[in-house]
Amino acid sequence: MAVVKADAYGHGAARVAAALDDADGYAVARLGEALALRAAGIDKPILLLEGVFSAEELAQALAARIDLAVHDPSQVELLEQADASGAVIWLQVDTGMNRLGFRPEQALAVRARLLAARGAPRELRLMTHLARADETDTAPTAAQTARFDSLVAEWAATAGAPPVTSIGNSAGTLRGSAAQGATQGDWIRPGIALYGASPLADRAAAELGLSPVMTLETAVIALRDVPPGEGVGYGATWRATRPSRIAILAAGYADGVPRHLPSGAPVLIGRRRAPLAGRVSMDMIAVDVTDLPSVAVGERAVLWGEGLPVDEVAARAGTIAYELFCRVAPRVPRVER
Ligand SMILES: *Cc1c(COP(=O)(O)O)cnc(C)c1O
Repeated sequence: MAVVKADAYGHGAARVAAALDDADGYAVARLGEALALRAAGIDKPILLLEGVFSAEELAQALAARIDLAVHDPSQVELLEQADASGAVIWLQVDTGMNRLGFRPEQALAVRARLLAARGAPRELRLMTHLARADETDTAPTAAQTARFDSLVAEWAATAGAPPVTSIGNSAGTLRGSAAQGATQGDWIRPGIALYGASPLADRAAAELGLSPVMTLETAVIALRDVPPGEGVGYGATWRATRPSRIAILAAGYADGVPRHLPSGAPVLIGRRRAPLAGRVSMDMIAVDVTDLPSVAVGERAVLWGEGLPVDEVAARAGTIAYELFCRVAPRVPRVER
């Protein structure tokens, strides 16, 4: 299932879901996201990863044929009081992340409770989420999958058949190792990899065969010459140490360029890299183009994407590609090519 929560990581959920029509289903975090996909005509299974939190939400989800994660006793109660006989429920177990899910030793009791209800769900499946699959040390992930595997075995012994399972996010799915199959399950749940960023701490996206989907681009709107010793931008945190040429670009933190992106971070102008100079302001950034004398007003510039890996920019800003993607502001026009 393609994970398209948070507006498909800033890419546009309906557009991405339609583009990824090879997916067997989709996953989102919030009910509103699931209903919006249905309203956009997406007919395949949609899993609501956080489940529902009221009887009204449950009714809306069931009416829209949304598959539900169940991770909390309050959600079991809601299901017991509803006719969930058309529903596919994913029982979420916490195998070590301590975020959402029942502890493995509680899972079979929850399963029994859900199946005993009058309007018991059509199908119960089992999922977990990996906390550290992006790391080079695979031991924490192996510990999580071992806990999951023994629960699957117990489930099979109790129910007569193993459950349909889901384990891997992008990192769990792509981490090449002997344990690879063990980190996937029947349904994989890739998010970030679909958008072309690397889910693995030690591997670049290109090495994994991933290419960027989003390119955040703008243009040069002004050029100026700055004499040595003068500062650029708010706080004058960047100072010219030589006669410098500064390009002003129409992109700032109101567009999603992180304000903490430091001077020296790369920006692509005319396919060549130039360093950010001074603070990111709301609508603009300054770039030192002294070494790119041909740069002209109107020239296209890339903040990340094609030619400039988002993971590299994110690392310079002390964050991850996920956050840069999600923070691209509504005012930025989305153009499909
Ligand atoms: C967001 C999320 C995913 C996708 O994670 P990526 O790291 O983007 O691949 C998968 N499963 C769950 C439960 C999630 O919350």
